[in-house]
Amino acid sequence: TSGSNIRVAVRCRPFFPSEQGQHARSVHMTKTSANLINPVTKQQRKFTFDSCYDSSGDIDGEGYASQQDIYSDIGVWLVDNSLRGYNTCIFAYGQTGSGKTYTMLGPDGTWDSKHEDAHGLIPRICAAHFDYIQSKTKRNITEPTIERKYSVMVSFAELYMEQAYDLLTPEAAKRANAGSASTSPGDPTSGAAGWRRTAQSNSYNGRETLRLREHPLSGPFIEGLTQTEVSSLEEIQSLMERGASARTTGVTKMNEQSSRSHAIFTMTFTQTAIATDRGVPIEKKECKVSLVDLAGSERADPGGSRIRETANINKGLLTLGRVISALTQNAAPAGEKRRRGSVSRRGSEIRNRSNSGSKSSSRGTSPMKSGSTRASLFDDGSNSKSEVVPYRESVLTWLLKESLGGNAKTAMIAAISPAPQHFEETMSTLCYADQARGIVNQAKVNDDPAA
Ligand code: ADP
Repeated sequence: TSGSNIRVAVRCRPFFPSEQGQHARSVHMTKTSANLINPVTKQQRKFTFDSCYDSSGDIDGEGYASQQDIYSDIGVWLVDNSLRGYNTCIFAYGQTGSGKTYTMLGPDGTWDSKHEDAHGLIPRICAAHFDYIQSKTKRNITEPTIERKYSVMVSFAELYMEQAYDLLTPEAAKRANAGSASTSPGDPTSGAAGWRRTAQSNSYNGRETLRLREHPLSGPFIEGLTQTEVSSLEEIQSLMERGASARTTGVTKMNEQSSRSHAIFTMTFTQTAIATDRGVPIEKKECKVSLVDLAGSERADPGGSRIRETANINKGLLTLGRVISALTQNAAPAGEKRRRGSVSRRGSEIRNRSNSGSKSSSRGTSPMKSGSTRASLFDDGSNSKSEVVPYRESVLTWLLKESLGGNAKTAMIAAISPAPQHFEETMSTLCYADQARGIVNQAKVNDDPAA
């Protein structure tokens, strides 16, 4: 395995009708850069990313980056990797109302089979896997000695207040959870190496919380989360519709809650090759596709007024920031470590910390070099140790452990608003995304030739 950086993209949503009439915009984008302008001081800061999608114009206009544009780029990249047997992940980060759900699922967090153009990444990625299975099943005629089998399993979980809930079939999740409770004493997760859940009996809106466990090979997972085998996009769609209704049960302000929770859609894709003469599997590839719609990032702001009441909700995003900084530190050359600070949520602090913002946009080249030269003069060696990555400090980061610095091909999509009144949030989102570019993953094909 060789390391490769995670892909980081930015998408800017359209102006809302209420924001229109303000001619100024706080961000200008090219295919690979986002230039952010402070509406007061007019100071500019340019960021460079793997790709930038400007969807701020007229949805039917020339320059509008469509759902298809984003799929052709990041979605197709993910599908290629998944079909080859790599674990893959896309996570959407940004303030509430910046277009995370639109990008991941579609308008209003649903997908309407009549409006395929509006489909976000999740339906398109699922569809691509079914298309592949269909094309392979047809082509199998040319391989008379091998029978290929495919399976697609999906699950959909919600993380809210550091607890995990099943979004697909709450009833099944409830039963599974009840069953696991009776076997919990002495289970491997109660030891020091395991993840301890302290409030297992908690429920919210009548839904049971699920426990986290760790599999020695495949890593952390949510115990009792419904895994449903599906054979078509329509099946996933109807499952998701049920999930959406589970999410609203008993919740008065759905948006309020969904903006505070993380939604994790997982597809497990298994490809098996069976020797037809002997009837035994000769190869098996299994990969996990994780598609994550994170909570609104404004909640993670330690300076925000809601900090006290949302301490728990913020934990996932706060820890995610710390995980990203630790991974970036660990991946940076020794001399560079000192100069890289942790992700700060405050744009102003970030600006003070380093005035090389525009330079650092050419990733890993000039700023790295100048940094090493300077730091080497002062380096006392104390920074050369790897920082401990605090995965276990939140449910979110623990579950995404393999996707962040581990065995997966990962992309982050930072969703931003073009409106000047969101300048501070946009700055902090772009800084967060900029830091995430330093994460190096070690992906390998998950195959088992002796299956
Ligand atoms: P978030 O999930 O970040 O809270 P949403 O995805 O709900 O944000 O987007 C907020 C609103 O903006 C929704 O009404 C959504 O349909 C609209 N929107 C977001 N991104 C786009 C886009 N690229 N094109 C058109 N409308 C968008």
